[in-house]
Amino acid sequence: MTENPNHHFRTRAIHVGQDRDPQTGAIVPPIHVASTFVQPGAGDWGKFDYSRSGNPTRAAFEATLASLEGGVGGLAFASGMAATHCATMILSSGDHILAGADIYGGTFRLLHKVVNQAGIHVSLAPSTNLAAFEAAIKPSTKLIWVESPGNPLMSITDIAAVAEIAHRHGALLGVDSTFASPVLTRPLELGADIVMHSATKYIGGHSDLLGGALVVRDKALRDRLYFFQNATGAVMGPWECFLASRGLKTLDLRVREQSKTALLLAQWLERDARINRVLYPGLPDHPGHSIAARQMDGAFGAMLTFEVKGDFQKTKRVCQATQLFQLAVSLGAVESLIEQPASMSHASYDPAARAAHGITDGLIRLSVGLEAFEDLRADLDQALNA
Ligand SMILES: *Cc1c(COP(=O)(O)O)cnc(C)c1O
Repeated sequence: MTENPNHHFRTRAIHVGQDRDPQTGAIVPPIHVASTFVQPGAGDWGKFDYSRSGNPTRAAFEATLASLEGGVGGLAFASGMAATHCATMILSSGDHILAGADIYGGTFRLLHKVVNQAGIHVSLAPSTNLAAFEAAIKPSTKLIWVESPGNPLMSITDIAAVAEIAHRHGALLGVDSTFASPVLTRPLELGADIVMHSATKYIGGHSDLLGGALVVRDKALRDRLYFFQNATGAVMGPWECFLASRGLKTLDLRVREQSKTALLLAQWLERDARINRVLYPGLPDHPGHSIAARQMDGAFGAMLTFEVKGDFQKTKRVCQATQLFQLAVSLGAVESLIEQPASMSHASYDPAARAAHGITDGLIRLSVGLEAFEDLRADLDQALNA
């Protein structure tokens, strides 16, 4: 269906790019598994020729996501890391990339152990402190990369303000918007040039696919990134594209419902004597609350972190004592997950770096799923006595 810009997010999530099959009338487009496509003539290229370069099932997912993010085009990858890696390919030797301090651990590793090998300079600065962040920009800075909310402290970066700073210094802004999802934040509308998603998380939403995506505002940048995607080949497979498209259809409902439960849990935890502090952008005392209220569309996400009163071992026991919250990294799915950043998602940081980032031993990160609030609360309540 051609996009109707007047249609709301939920409507576009179901209809844009998801045409019925013209041959059979099937309401769900078929999954195209073909690796190659017959050409009209030697040297004539049809719409599709080879599945790395383009695939109808992938094109459908990319069209829907591009519409939801307000971009000119989307590119789907085999994983979120493949998508982020592709974004860094616009840099050349001698260029500098400045990233926010609260970035995903895999992105930290990619920048410091892979991207730097191509002669690209990497540095990190706190993107929540605009003056300090701007001061870290160099004449050679070509790409700025931030995440909001950040992991695991749920730090909020003012994307519109960082976009203005980036452009004033001649750099592009990329935003890893995995935690917010396109439902709650649309970075391209705020001035960012590239938005990245780990589709493994909210977009897939059911813990059953690995994928990533980039969406961009500018056609020339889209074409450049497409060139790198096709040249390096880490594309999303057709089965994952089908699952990701299916995930988008219920994304708005899932994210809003999960966010509602997360807010209720945050408010309950905040009053509990066994808890030191709760980090959730929806709470008025969170340092990023007022920016989040402006930047996030009607809800504050379904990720929350809290600190128990107790040491490393006590925190570990709490994480192991839940029944509904399952002990696992990853996030964004219908199943609620629990993890201890110090021993799991951020274990690769050395203890001094963890302390510098405010990642204490007592922190617990929740990915709130779609289960009933009362059941999740009861589960945490019993686990906190462990
Ligand atoms: C999971 C995640 C990634 C990496 O995505 P993969 O699909 O695991 O490669 C990047 N950024 C954030 C914020 C994530 O949560």
